[in-house]
Amino acid sequence: MARATQITLCSFCGKSKAEVRKLIAGPGVFICDSCVVVCKGVLDKELAQDSRRQIRALNVPKPSEIKRHLDQFVVGQEDTKRTLSVAVYNHYKRVMALGASPSGEAAEPAAGSDDGVDIEKSNVLLLGPTGSGKTLLARSLAKLLDVPFAIADATSITEAGYVGEDVENIVLRLLQAADFDVKRAQVGIVYIDEIDKISRKTENVSITRDVSGEGVQQGLLKILEGTVCNVPPQGGRKHPQQEYIRVDTTHILFICGGAFVGLDRIIERRIGRQALGFTARGGTTQSVVENPLRQVEPEDLVGYGFIPEFIGRLPVTTVLEPLSEEDLVTILTAPRNSLVKQFSKLLGYDGVELTFTPEAIRELAVRARQKGTGARALRSMVERLMRDVMFEVPGSDDVVGVVVDRAVVVGESRPTIRRKPSQEAA
Ligand code: ADP
Repeated sequence: MARATQITLCSFCGKSKAEVRKLIAGPGVFICDSCVVVCKGVLDKELAQDSRRQIRALNVPKPSEIKRHLDQFVVGQEDTKRTLSVAVYNHYKRVMALGASPSGEAAEPAAGSDDGVDIEKSNVLLLGPTGSGKTLLARSLAKLLDVPFAIADATSITEAGYVGEDVENIVLRLLQAADFDVKRAQVGIVYIDEIDKISRKTENVSITRDVSGEGVQQGLLKILEGTVCNVPPQGGRKHPQQEYIRVDTTHILFICGGAFVGLDRIIERRIGRQALGFTARGGTTQSVVENPLRQVEPEDLVGYGFIPEFIGRLPVTTVLEPLSEEDLVTILTAPRNSLVKQFSKLLGYDGVELTFTPEAIRELAVRARQKGTGARALRSMVERLMRDVMFEVPGSDDVVGVVVDRAVVVGESRPTIRRKPSQEAA
């Protein structure tokens, strides 16, 4: 019995194998090359619409509104707050104008546009001492914009093939912060701390392989400028058998920060001390107190050990000032979630009023400043002062107030506990 010739047709357009260039077989179905192209078009359009919806939902505030928000949380650092407000506004305007590429799709060439004017991505470099508010600024921005936020430490990243983290792990953190919603992660903010620690350690790279320096800069370059990276969902090293999540970093805002100890000397060498604000007046030399970092140029960062391409990916540079004693006083009391307000709120739940005398606040600021870790020292100092109070007060229902004065801060006495009148008389 002659077997019937089996004619294979595209299950979508009905064309036969002879009429098309390729026919791909699935379980019980076929699809021709033209139908694949049509389907791809439909998918791209839908995914792009999804992404645009995501970006429209960003609702980017104006620079002045961003600055006002930062003012509520971050004391001082006026220049940096202004610069960041503009940079972040421009970044998300650019993102909205371009539309994020669909998840998993290859990135569009960065910032291409019809009129030939390309707005480049403005990742930010924050130069400033420890505890001056770099991380706080980045976190506050992400909170305002309601985008996922992740912090990474540049020192934990190593070149692929060495023990340590791959750069993809940075993107993984953002993905985790976005609950693995790739589209949300693609418009998130990443703060990379201690970026100064990945400067080239040695001039002669050919002799010692510079594992933690230039190689890491090269690795970071790609994600800073925008690439589709394959992120291992479990973290750790890449593994050939592992499934990856594709994340396009084109629209992720990277804020890099570091203390850059010693950079001031490089700048001073370039321009000379005179130009830095030390001017002779009436025979005496007066300091016009200018932070040398404010004069930083890309060449100084190259001198510090960064490759020019890396510096080029961080076009917005801004300098944070060391916090003054006055700033530290303000930080303790004024911001929306200042330490004093936080502890007052905690005790308030137990009906207890907390008072820090002005002298106590001043002494805390003086001591924190001596430690040289900016506002970082404040939390541990206040925590230590409050530890016993926080332990005892919730158990005793006659306490109405706690007073912390200077003597408590210098360690000469314990916080004064005010009790209900009947108990005080007893
Ligand atoms: P950095 O990243 O510059 O080392 P952080 O932003 O992590 O410093 O600051 C550490 C803590 O100190 C923050 O959580 C915040 O409570 C406080 N802090 C630092 N700088 C400021 C500032 N300018 N205004 C308000 N709080 C600050």
